[in-house]
Amino acid sequence: MVSQKALQHAEKCRFCWMCRHLCPVQHQTGKELNTPRAKGLLLSMLSKGTAEFDKDMAKAMYECMLCDACVNDCCTGYQPPLFIREARTEAVVNDLAPAAVMQCIENIENSGNIYGAEKPSFGQDGTDVLVYIGEVAACKVPEMAKAYLRLLKKAGVSAKVLDCEPASGMMLADLMGYVQEVTDQAKSCADAINATGLPTVVVLDSYDAEIMKQHYAEWGCEIKAEVVTATAYVAKLLEDGKLTPKAEAKGAGACHDDDRLARSFHEFAPVRDIAKAAGYTLTEMFNKERLAKSCGTAVALSYMPGITTKVASGRWADLCRTEAKAMLTANPQAYLCLSQCVPEGMTLVDLYTALNEVV
Ligand code: SF4
Ligand code: SF4
Repeated sequence: MVSQKALQHAEKCRFCWMCRHLCPVQHQTGKELNTPRAKGLLLSMLSKGTAEFDKDMAKAMYECMLCDACVNDCCTGYQPPLFIREARTEAVVNDLAPAAVMQCIENIENSGNIYGAEKPSFGQDGTDVLVYIGEVAACKVPEMAKAYLRLLKKAGVSAKVLDCEPASGMMLADLMGYVQEVTDQAKSCADAINATGLPTVVVLDSYDAEIMKQHYAEWGCEIKAEVVTATAYVAKLLEDGKLTPKAEAKGAGACHDDDRLARSFHEFAPVRDIAKAAGYTLTEMFNKERLAKSCGTAVALSYMPGITTKVASGRWADLCRTEAKAMLTANPQAYLCLSQCVPEGMTLVDLYTALNEVV
């Protein structure tokens, strides 16, 4: 069963309601079962032998975006995603995970990504930096990846993209916890990146950047290059005058802080710098920066599209309460989720494409 550490967190959360108002899944489903507290209670009951780990309990553990909004708000330092991930490991090991989850895992085993698709080649063999595209941008939002590479070219940066880019391990970790298969993927990925010998790896998807920067070292597979988020890298190119935008007024927009930039990196300024350079006048949604509400993840969209689309619609509702008509994002997973339910009269903007229009 789950570790003592995870159980300790579950035991504390089961009595507590303090972060329930921040859970985007609870908001959109209205289910008590989807509060962090309820998931802690389920595991507590399991450890006391008063409940069985069955398919319903497993399903509840997957109705979570692992967005860390609860963790960020917890003044006592407890972490629901810690026990939720471990419960997912149990679900997979005991063949209780939802069929759609198992399909994603099978796709990873067969193709290296949750889509079971072949990643396209970006035909880039430059010598300054390696750009890690990630499976979501490669398979589902390739225009964002191409726009990013065009920006680097305009800035005079010679970029390389691995032809057979290995998975970072991020998707598998969300599906079945931090198991050996995830560290195996991480090692292969780090080896491929290190083999390029390039000094910098720019990571397009902040979810990939998070696992690389915050977990690889503890697994003994540190990336030798400096790992930089794509947003921070382009913001620096703007600051250094390598990209010089023409003045163009595009109206009011609000930046969506994705889960990892918001809560793992606390990186807020670069995406706003890019948005301003692209011509937007910025306003803010109520839940912003560290408190930003999740709009869903690509993996959750794959195994539970209905709930994830509702979560994305919750983020659109936040935008609708501002004067802005444009949701601005530089994250492929956020773009993919938000694109499922764009309200009439609103626009979803990929900031790399928008910046390309003015530089
Ligand atoms: S994470 Fe913290 S605030 Fe949320 S339920 Fe657990 S103990 Fe309470
Ligand atoms: S990680 Fe996010 S979705 Fe999951 S319980 Fe916490 S707030 Fe809810």
